[in-house]
Amino acid sequence: MTVYLVGAGPGDPGLLTVRAAELIAQADVILYDRLIPEESLESARPDAVLFFVGKRSGDEQVTQDEINRLLVEHGRRHDTVVRLKGGDPFVFGRGGEEAQALRESGVTFEVVPGITAGIAAPAYAGIPVTSRELASAVALVAGHTVRDLDWSALAAFPGTLVFYMGVAALPEITEHLRAAGRRSNEPVAVVERGTLPRQRTVLASLTDIAERVVEEGIRPPAVTIVGPVAALHTQTAWFEARPLHDVTVAVARAPGEAGDVAAGLRALGAAVLEAPTVRIEPIAAELPALERYDVVLFASASGVARLFELLHERRRDARALAGRRITASGRATADALRARGLLPDLVSPRADEPLEVLEGAGADRALIVCGREQRDALGRVSADLLVLYENLAEPLSSDELRAVSHADWIAFASPAAVQLLAEATGGAIPHGPRSASVDPATSEALRSCGREPDLEAALHTRQGLVDALAAAAATTSVASVPA
Ligand code: SAH
Repeated sequence: MTVYLVGAGPGDPGLLTVRAAELIAQADVILYDRLIPEESLESARPDAVLFFVGKRSGDEQVTQDEINRLLVEHGRRHDTVVRLKGGDPFVFGRGGEEAQALRESGVTFEVVPGITAGIAAPAYAGIPVTSRELASAVALVAGHTVRDLDWSALAAFPGTLVFYMGVAALPEITEHLRAAGRRSNEPVAVVERGTLPRQRTVLASLTDIAERVVEEGIRPPAVTIVGPVAALHTQTAWFEARPLHDVTVAVARAPGEAGDVAAGLRALGAAVLEAPTVRIEPIAAELPALERYDVVLFASASGVARLFELLHERRRDARALAGRRITASGRATADALRARGLLPDLVSPRADEPLEVLEGAGADRALIVCGREQRDALGRVSADLLVLYENLAEPLSSDELRAVSHADWIAFASPAAVQLLAEATGGAIPHGPRSASVDPATSEALRSCGREPDLEAALHTRQGLVDALAAAAATTSVASVPA
């Protein structure tokens, strides 16, 4: 029976602490705010009860008293209650008040600090809030309480000032600081959506930052950094300098592709969404006499999983494959075999070219374990096919469809990915984003859906697709990228 006041970090899901992730995965009840990383709740238990208690535009905000009451009530009834807040719970997070309320009610609580936006957003903008030469102190300031602040003390503060919640009040903040004697040419940086894929930084002086922020249309959440360190943004900005920063790519999902296109794009700074959700629908089949074959080729990881289901249903196991040469197409398939204690004799580098492996295996009698969508490609091989499943795409929700339609690019890493996305959108690939294809077969699949690919990777691999997108971003001016 413990309530954990947990910081979820500033937005980048990688900046959630290990302890926070552990507690989220364990929680019976989670009460969360608006500014937490979207992904942070994904690892919650399926039966956990999730309460949104933040402010949503238009809605009444749940009052702090109400939140305190909920925390006490759930804290008395459940083992693990997580109160998840953006950044750090004790930095402008009202975590202190919640801790008081829990103490007064005799409910046990713990605090899990988080990475606070006022340090992390500048760090992602290349701005160290302290520096040996430029700032030996830093003050975290609530920017929306303009009237309550001691401006002469702040103006005289010997170090960096970091304002939270200060976008709307920026004209007043800068005016007060100047009136109280802060240098008017002091560098000021405003970091919007710090640590998130669409982070933006505006750098100006105390005199003109307020105007610049309006010009650029900066909106909350943002932090404002006042002090000489702010100017370091021009030298050590790194996050916004990554090749795919500020580029959104929808990656058309296909089974067995292990998410490496998405991971590769994210590593280069892209905002990535993967769609659609793909479900594996088993197809009923008889278990063939495996001992009749010299070679068993697994065309996908799902095929491996399904064959083992069939074996287990008949109270058999991996020994049923003893003596066969085992081959796998693609790394993910090989991994699925290894996880079941089978070391494949041969692995083809690409999941969608099982034939290569089969030819390499030099087999007379071969069995191919595959899914329905692989059947056509494999039909011309002189081997028996064991079709054990089909991939079905879930239709996109209207939110998902909107998100995909607003992406800058849609990336397709196989013909199957084209088919599944088309299936999930009712036939039409959204027209807003440009389309990037991994190879000629994928481009052909796009054309048969009425889309001419805007880009085909020179190197027909998933890494080749990632590189091609990075190259395209480098030569594209922001203005010509569709909104
Ligand atoms: N407890 C939080 C702060 C909550 S107050 C923390 O420790 O970070 C909310 C304010 O935090 C916002 O108005 C904004 O000033 C700042 N903030 C939160 N997330 C931010 C982000 N990703 N980028 C910039 N500022 C952010």
